[in-house]
Amino acid sequence: MQSKLVDLGKRSGFKVHPVSMGAMRFPADDGEAVRLIRKAIDAGLIYIDTSRGYGDSEEKLGKALKDGYREKVILSTKWSPWIKLIEEGDDASAQCMYRRICEQLKRLDTEYLDFYQVWNVDKPEHYELATRQGGMLDGIRRAMKEGLVRHTGFTTHDEPKNVLRYIEEAHWAEVILFTYNMLNREYKKCIDAAHAKGIGTIVMNPIGGGMFAEGSGVIKKAVEGVLGEGVSPIEAAHRYLAADENIDTIICGITKTYDIENTLANYAKGPLSQGECRGLEGVMKGLRPENAGFCTGCGYCMPCPQGIIIPEVMKLVHTGRYLDCLVSAKGPFGWLVAQPGEGRSEYPSKCIKCGKCEGKCTQRLKIMDEMAWAGANLEK
Ligand code: SF4
Ligand code: SF4
Repeated sequence: MQSKLVDLGKRSGFKVHPVSMGAMRFPADDGEAVRLIRKAIDAGLIYIDTSRGYGDSEEKLGKALKDGYREKVILSTKWSPWIKLIEEGDDASAQCMYRRICEQLKRLDTEYLDFYQVWNVDKPEHYELATRQGGMLDGIRRAMKEGLVRHTGFTTHDEPKNVLRYIEEAHWAEVILFTYNMLNREYKKCIDAAHAKGIGTIVMNPIGGGMFAEGSGVIKKAVEGVLGEGVSPIEAAHRYLAADENIDTIICGITKTYDIENTLANYAKGPLSQGECRGLEGVMKGLRPENAGFCTGCGYCMPCPQGIIIPEVMKLVHTGRYLDCLVSAKGPFGWLVAQPGEGRSEYPSKCIKCGKCEGKCTQRLKIMDEMAWAGANLEK
């Protein structure tokens, strides 16, 4: 079954393939990256999601989008000062936003961007910084007036109740990028609300940030229990998302040709039935840490005198240790211990076994053991 183009929301006027291109992990070699990007575009992955924070991805795209390829794609990039400072003095002002856009245009070697997104609105203060007078959105609007940017939106990891409020208020947003997959359905209501408003709904992490590709026996067993032997977790994940009409497109991160071919082959098999989707949701729900007797993320164990953000580390311990997806836990762990500001966690190996957290844990978890596991396995 061939995938047809769908509206990227009603506001934007664009049509996209249900599979789009994620630019976070291009091959290191420029020539190889250019060939891969063009192959993806030729296969239909015309919406491209990149960022100022994805290494040299913008420069690689700049090289690939020559010879008529720029005109074939919908190019989107993003930035925010709370995720990545580029220069000393970077902030959430309109002037800085405009400066960053101009720099990114040069990196991408293009005269205009189809979309510019505020990157990772993950708390109300970020939304306020983006939308206040003289804030980031005003910088984007200036670029839009000058023809440098054509459309805008935002990406988010905020609590769903906050995101629902932004969706009501953000008449300016034409797309929103959500994390969503068969295991993590936290944003389902937000996706439905955005779609109803005509905002394009784009899904990142469709295969659980790589979890469904890791060969985890736990996830394989859960999927096969519903869909039968031989259906891989990745196929299940793709066809699950294909069945949701409120999702316009998913981001497929491309590192090799197989990523493109496999994703398209799964979509070509068609969406799962509604019954299969409900069955998958049931077994996946049982794997969630809060339903498996593990950490609920309640935060009662905090604060840790050593500066470890225990609930966040516990979430990654669950992914790595209990879902058997170590590689997928290590990536976010790297962000957690490296990001600037209050969101940064100290390394779990810094745990001094004071026991304060365990005494307060609502689940009576052996947090000190889990920190030791995290130190030994995630820090390597
Ligand atoms: S036992 Fe370790 S993780 Fe728990 S509060 Fe003490 S230092 Fe922090
Ligand atoms: S108190 Fe226990 S369940 Fe709650 S966040 Fe801390 S470790 Fe997780």
